[in-house]
Amino acid sequence: MTTHHMIENITVPLDLLGGDDGYVGAIKGDCLRGDLLLRDNCVVGMQPSQAIEPSRRMLFPGLIEAHCHLDKCHTIDRMDFRGGDLGDAIRAQHADKALWSDEDIRRRALLGIDEAIAAGCVAIRSHVDWGDEALPPRSFEVLLEVVQDVPVHLQLATLTGVDQMADPAFARKAANAIPEGHALGAFVLGQAGLRDGIANTFREADRRGLALDFHVDETLDTAMNGLEVIADVALETGFDGSILCGHAVSLGLRAQTDFDRIASKLANAGIAIVALPQTNLYLQGRAAHLPQGRGLTPLDALARAGVKVVLGTDNVRDAFCPVGRHDPLRALELGILSAHLDPPLGRWMRSITTDARTALGLGPAPINGAHLNTLRIADASDLSDLISGAAHRPASELLKEPLS
Ligand SMILES: [Zn+2]
Repeated sequence: MTTHHMIENITVPLDLLGGDDGYVGAIKGDCLRGDLLLRDNCVVGMQPSQAIEPSRRMLFPGLIEAHCHLDKCHTIDRMDFRGGDLGDAIRAQHADKALWSDEDIRRRALLGIDEAIAAGCVAIRSHVDWGDEALPPRSFEVLLEVVQDVPVHLQLATLTGVDQMADPAFARKAANAIPEGHALGAFVLGQAGLRDGIANTFREADRRGLALDFHVDETLDTAMNGLEVIADVALETGFDGSILCGHAVSLGLRAQTDFDRIASKLANAGIAIVALPQTNLYLQGRAAHLPQGRGLTPLDALARAGVKVVLGTDNVRDAFCPVGRHDPLRALELGILSAHLDPPLGRWMRSITTDARTALGLGPAPINGAHLNTLRIADASDLSDLISGAAHRPASELLKEPLS
């Protein structure tokens, strides 16, 4: 039997609604306030509210952690590491791998996943460092087991060197080890054989039906432009899976004409960019007088050029970033400060919800039509309130209230 309920005085961000047909209420900024209509505990509409008090209950979709490293997280406490740039962090983290037993990897990954779930995440993509061999490292096997055990959608992405992927046999062997639903990726930072490596990665992802996810141009050195090569290969091949590129730091320093050309290619190829302010702020721009530069991709300009933009946490409490936690709202707050993401804020909320989902090859899952089990409810009156740290919990708790 179909059930109908109404929950009084709820605020929803219009950018996350996914169609406003059947939603009538009071508009305040980029949010809508009214009485929420449910059918079989799914959100189906809104009607004007008789409530006099302003709403301090905001509904939003479960969050997405689009880019993190569960194999490396929570290792800083055992490292004798005094900071440095990306190269220093890579070396320190490599030394820590001597301690990576199955139990250690699993324990730290579950710590990271628990943080993400507590932060409201319903899906996570973690990159996994590859070794010298094409066959998967033990950490990948352990994390594939973790995928089966956790109450959250967890995708893994290979983090090989693009120079390794330039060897067709290596690329094929690595791709063959990736189960359906996960992603093929590579670290792209001006290496020799970069174009061949990117082309092989595309070809193998296409053959295996995998998503693509690159770490690219994590540097302020504008001589490095792997991002445009990725866009060119995407356009040449017509790859039809999802493509996500992380960092794209040097893009922020390019001349306007170069930026316009690259952004146009990214938009045409349907490539999404995930900015990772936490790690970029910590590792980039290190010189005698710190900080030298912010090291962030130009999110606002990319969005205006029609490129889908996403925000992720990246490294948590490891050599790449000694602090932090897996919390997309925190990544967004940091992005607002460091990348000058201006109000209205609803469009930026998409970068950790609906747009982040499609960048991972998932459906957008906006509020309209969603089951309350997949949504969150916050003690927040507007999006600034939510992003600034308002408490939130599973929206299914609304069903414990007396319902109309
Ligand atoms: Zn990363």
